[in-house]
Amino acid sequence: MTGKINQSDLNKLRKDFSGKILLPEDPSYEDSRSIYNAMIEKRPGIIARCVEEEDVIRAVNFGRDLDLEISVRGGGHSVAGWGLTEGGLMIDLSLMNTVEVNPDNQTARVGGGATWNNLDHACNRYGLATTGGICTTTGVGGVTLGGGWGWLARKYGLGCDNLLTVKLVIADGKTIVASEKEHSELFWALHGGGGNFGIATEFTFQLHPLPSATTAFLVFSPDAGPRVINRFRDVLEEGPDELSGEMVYITGPPEDFVPSHLVNQLCLMMTIFYAGTEAEAEKVIKPLFETGHEGKMVAEMSYFDIQTMGDIRSGYRHHVSSEHLHALPGEAIEKFCSRAHDMIVPSDSELALSTWGGQIARRAGDWPIADLDANWHVYPFAMWTDPGSDKQVFDWIEGLNADLAPYTTGSPYLNLIADEGKERMIAGYGGEAKYRQLVKIKNEYDPDNIFRLNHNIKPL
Ligand SMILES: Cc1cc2nc3c(=O)[nH]c(=O)nc-3n(C[C@H](O)[C@H](O)[C@H](O)COP(=O)(O)OP(=O)(O)OC[C@H]3O[C@@H](n4cnc5c(N)ncnc54)[C@H](O)[C@@H]3O)c2cc1C
Repeated sequence: MTGKINQSDLNKLRKDFSGKILLPEDPSYEDSRSIYNAMIEKRPGIIARCVEEEDVIRAVNFGRDLDLEISVRGGGHSVAGWGLTEGGLMIDLSLMNTVEVNPDNQTARVGGGATWNNLDHACNRYGLATTGGICTTTGVGGVTLGGGWGWLARKYGLGCDNLLTVKLVIADGKTIVASEKEHSELFWALHGGGGNFGIATEFTFQLHPLPSATTAFLVFSPDAGPRVINRFRDVLEEGPDELSGEMVYITGPPEDFVPSHLVNQLCLMMTIFYAGTEAEAEKVIKPLFETGHEGKMVAEMSYFDIQTMGDIRSGYRHHVSSEHLHALPGEAIEKFCSRAHDMIVPSDSELALSTWGGQIARRAGDWPIADLDANWHVYPFAMWTDPGSDKQVFDWIEGLNADLAPYTTGSPYLNLIADEGKERMIAGYGGEAKYRQLVKIKNEYDPDNIFRLNHNIKPL
């Protein structure tokens, strides 16, 4: 691919480019091509580190005219490593990370390469928040365009439910703004359709007042799983929208609230989030404190502080999959718990069962995202270092999905899978009818499929 780029093409691109153009021989090239998943080792032929919308336009025109494979890097967390291209042009948005909060109308204007850390931190100052991923190192762009599940989703909907406008550079290099009023079909497609339609240089989000929130961690021995998760299900399914949670099998961390016999061993953690004060939370979550935990931590703090507790360092080998469940029968819980024992321990891997429902379910059918009316979501989230363990991890995840198949909808949350085949992708977009609509919109905005490193909607 790099063979197609000659010096005069490069000079032309560099001429007015405000950011940085990097080639493999540049000292900062290696750092700039690093992404979350260490399994992906692609080497772009050229990296365009954009600092303004004009840079994105120049990069898109350059890549398209030279027929280079284009990758778009926001927060760099996609499991498939779609931020990287082998030999092509990587358009890196990570320097476009400014956030401007307007406390009067409770909105935020967010650069296309911002992370949730940038956004949550800026909102924190005003006691405002919106739904974002539970790990703040992920990109606002990738997470939101694919849906955007997080602790506030039951209360305020997915991240994409809070979108007011998206400013995009599309395949022909033009800039457009999509909203409910302008390019409204495209705006619909941006609620789940990912990076298929262009490069978002700016998002506007609706924010919500949230002066503080409450988090709780309860620690259990792994064998307590079925009993505790049955109780967790009953409480969470009856709980208000403010209440959200996960049951997660992890390696016990060396924290004060984790008993020493579970540190570095497989343990079960109940993570509770409540969008309100500790006093309000306790009224609702009290029954969960009577489930025989061996360690406990409860705290009221800022939403930003809770969010950063979920941050995980990058540089691991990484694989993940996703399944939705409408109901959570005891047999499904048994299968979930027994597969926890196949996870690599000690490691930073997790086997998680999280709550959907609430406001997410009230938008069921609205977006090209499957199963918005599902109550539960299971995702094995593997992080390991030894390439010799790759097969063990892939077998674990495949085995878990097979065990749960009788109970799941079969449609994944696309943000949390790599390429699992066309059928799974279409299911993740909500089925054939939604996919046909996405193709129609793709035909209009990216007919030559220049934005194809994603869950790719192929134009006709
Ligand atoms: C540690 C970790 C925690 C996670 N937690 C959550 C979570 O809590 N909730 C959740 O919903 N998901 C979560 N995810 C999944 C996450 O939503 C996806 O991995 C998402 O793709 C990450 O976006 P990114 O911008 O960081 O990644 P990137 O790899 O940079 O981008 C991913 C895709 O989005 C496109 N893209 C990114 N930015 C833009 C933009 N501005 N314009 C157009 N296209 C763009 C890219 O083309 C690419 O195809 C998590 C993933 C990891 C690894």
